[in-house]
Amino acid sequence: MEVTPVLADSHGRVATDLRVSLTDRCNLRCSYCMPPEGLEWLPKPELLTDDEVGRLIRIGVELLGIREVRFTGGEPLLRRGLTRIVAAANALTPRPRTAVTTNGIGLGRVAPALAEAGLDRVNVSLDTLRPEVFERLARRRRLPDVLDGLAGAAAAGLTPVKVNAVLMRGVNDDEAPDLLRYCLERGYELRFIEQMPLDAQHGWRRENMVTADEILERLSAAFDLAPADAAERGSAPAELFLVDGGPARVGVIGSVTRPFCGACDRVRLTADGQIRNCLFAREESDLRAPLRDGASDEEIAQRWRAAVAAKLPGHGIDDPSFLQPSRPMSAIGG
Ligand code: SAM
Ligand code: SF4
Repeated sequence: MEVTPVLADSHGRVATDLRVSLTDRCNLRCSYCMPPEGLEWLPKPELLTDDEVGRLIRIGVELLGIREVRFTGGEPLLRRGLTRIVAAANALTPRPRTAVTTNGIGLGRVAPALAEAGLDRVNVSLDTLRPEVFERLARRRRLPDVLDGLAGAAAAGLTPVKVNAVLMRGVNDDEAPDLLRYCLERGYELRFIEQMPLDAQHGWRRENMVTADEILERLSAAFDLAPADAAERGSAPAELFLVDGGPARVGVIGSVTRPFCGACDRVRLTADGQIRNCLFAREESDLRAPLRDGASDEEIAQRWRAAVAAKLPGHGIDDPSFLQPSRPMSAIGG
């Protein structure tokens, strides 16, 4: 049988972007993600070790055509070995682009070490600039830490710093222009993400969701937005708009109302070693068992290829038969 050096599915897509969840734990409790009491965390023995994560990334890069590795969670900065894992990924040939998605708490402190380890970029989540709204939304008083983290990332050269924001109706949906102004003034690139049905509490309601259209309407009340060159978008989920003639841009990720499944190039590895071919997949493929049972790199790669080959054409959130995946976002890796 001919072995393909890529992760292809049966709908013509090739996965080159690997999202690696390093932990399901978090120091915030964003209401669109987790219940206030947190979740039952994965038991330590089930988590991949730093070396196991490193080996799977190496197989992805060397045998399967992975070109970008993004570390996420849960909160990836809670993973002690993060810097070492990032350095190991950056030592691979060909070197993948590496990034971290984080809530920013503690980033000010570790950003220089991450930059030293070769990290290319960070995405920091920031949904509000108002401390009382932050406390209501994330259920912790940590807004100053997040803002420090952003500044620390920029100072360490992890640029362009990207900011992710989720708007919740009646909570922070009046803040879109303020968030954009804050980011423009500091050279951060802001992207709004539509809220998706991935919260552990199953509290998502389509009718409550702030849509991409609404986000653009609110931004347009304060800024002049013009679509950026569509060719720039490629497989990126964000639709980009030039702000007040550019060059500054803002992105809107309409995962629900403007799905981009046809151009998806992602594959996910959970902290306990499961491959998910989609954020919304209802099935996973276990790589941890073969890894611990002494499988060869090629045997693991073959399982990984099969997992991606079975990827469905779309997430079907708008389909009446849509079922939310059993793992919440924090345990999948956003
Ligand atoms: N803890 C890190 C953070 O918050 O950036 C990384 C993990 S978090 C799951 C990754 C991204 O997913 C964050 O930008 C977060 O806002 C977003 N997110 C979480 N739950 C979401 C949901 N239900 N819908 C849309 N985005 C969500
Ligand atoms: Fe934590 Fe990120 Fe989920 Fe917020 S979105 S609770 S920061 S994992």
